[in-house]
Amino acid sequence: MKVGLYLHIPFCKSRCIYCDFYSTTSHDKREKYVANLCKEIAMKRALIGSEALLSSIYFGGGTPSLLSLPQLEALFGTIRKYYTYFSPEIEITLEANPDDITTTYAKGIHNLGINRVSLGVQSFHDQQLSFLGRRHNAQQVVEAIETLHKVGIDNISIDLIYGLPEAPLTWWETTINKAIALHPSHISAYALTYEVGTKLSRLATKGEILIKNDDEVYEEYNLLIRKLAEAGYVHYEISNFALPHREAIHNSSYWEGTPYLGVGPSAHSYITLCEETILGKECFQSGDKLRFANMAQLTSYEREIERGYIPIDFIEKLGFKERYEETLMLRLRTQKGIDLSLFNKDFGTSCREQLIHRAQPYIDQGLLLYQRDRLAPTERGFFVIDGIISSLFL
Ligand code: SF4
Repeated sequence: MKVGLYLHIPFCKSRCIYCDFYSTTSHDKREKYVANLCKEIAMKRALIGSEALLSSIYFGGGTPSLLSLPQLEALFGTIRKYYTYFSPEIEITLEANPDDITTTYAKGIHNLGINRVSLGVQSFHDQQLSFLGRRHNAQQVVEAIETLHKVGIDNISIDLIYGLPEAPLTWWETTINKAIALHPSHISAYALTYEVGTKLSRLATKGEILIKNDDEVYEEYNLLIRKLAEAGYVHYEISNFALPHREAIHNSSYWEGTPYLGVGPSAHSYITLCEETILGKECFQSGDKLRFANMAQLTSYEREIERGYIPIDFIEKLGFKERYEETLMLRLRTQKGIDLSLFNKDFGTSCREQLIHRAQPYIDQGLLLYQRDRLAPTERGFFVIDGIISSLFL
């Protein structure tokens, strides 16, 4: 059975104005945190079968590239101690800020086995980067990619943000052009969101920045899709584009229902139990499909780990309805969509017929595509997929 491992690294050097993820800027907590993460890797190993084949490892954050090479080495040592089987094609990703990528660091992570780096680029305009509170500039992105290539890491993903306020469409076009010119194997692009409690949202509420309307954001999204398609990128998930055969293995495991274990504050896990297990204060049976998450605050997370407990915040046992909704929510975000013959096997003919019946208006409007026994979003459908999915629920 394939399994993915996610390690959450909740440290940032400074806070970006749009971000509401939990992270801390304290430097002195990292050593103790790594030791606790190692303990959690060991504790959670028993939750999946002894034959588990590790197909991906993902260091996400926060800013994982703030971990030193010895700290990363300690984590890899623990992973190797508790996992026997590694897929020959294992994908090991480190999220990084471009200005952390020095030659020494790049060589070090490559030697540890990291074969994919996801760079938080966001924009190629220094003015926008500084407005967002990012600590790198556009030139540092170019240098980071060159450095990674030199040490042999050629699987590079970059994150971009569209819908940024106060910027003409031409600025977004320049960002896309510069991204394409660097030829990363993968690009993720997200619309800017105004999360409550962030400095960005306060600026918007006070009317101090000019936010873009839905039509303007849609125009930027469309431009992105068109230019990346012309450059040979496959739009394989609503926010993700890859050169052929360079789709992210770890992220795809979320959409395809591959089990994964998450460690660190707020990390989520999704598993099918292979034996009766007590988790939190509940007893679950072999075959139960569980989704659960860790506590989000670093202090409560560390307190539980030090007491010898998995720091569970919530556990959800997925029944028929939850599995049905989750299948729609995850698969309809991807270009492959839902394989209706598999769907039929999981949920029965009547559910399949109901799904096609409810999807028909969207098929007629060109938002969903129904062909070769698959139901999938079209490019236009991707932009409004959340509304479509909720209307297809039982
Ligand atoms: S570096 Fe990433 S996680 Fe840290 S504050 Fe900025 S956006 Fe948030």
